[in-house]
Amino acid sequence: MSNEAVNFRADVLAIAAHRDDVEQTCGGTLLRMAARAYVPPSLTLPGEAGTRGSAAERAAEAADAAKLLGVGWRQALSLPDGAIENTLENRIEIARVLRVLRPRVVILPYWQARHPDHAITGTLGYDACFLSGLAKVDTGAARTGLSR
Ligand SMILES: [Zn+2]
Repeated sequence: MSNEAVNFRADVLAIAAHRDDVEQTCGGTLLRMAARAYVPPSLTLPGEAGTRGSAAERAAEAADAAKLLGVGWRQALSLPDGAIENTLENRIEIARVLRVLRPRVVILPYWQARHPDHAITGTLGYDACFLSGLAKVDTGAARTGLSR
């Protein structure tokens, strides 16, 4: 499911800091969107330093959750867990994905949170959305497995 070549425009894209954040914060919304035939992909900036489960277990759980929620596409970037930063490089990496998926709605973490990754992901994703709309900004080719 995760990196198959799929040609679609996302109706809603959920971006989160860690693999299980999407399911815990907006899983119900994605489930309802999928039930209404909307396409709800998700993007995480993965976190593997969590104290619960190994990276492999979390990846397997995320894949299972994506199936249950009807998430048609899911990708995890390689930003460092516990050290996500709102840098131009990271904004461009997310903007690449946004340009391929072209979501109508983006769900982001609230920008005030105890976990720094969650707060940063909120502002990083927000800024990446703006950047993705700037035609003169070259984000390079996306490695999403998706095509336009
Ligand atoms: Zn998290």
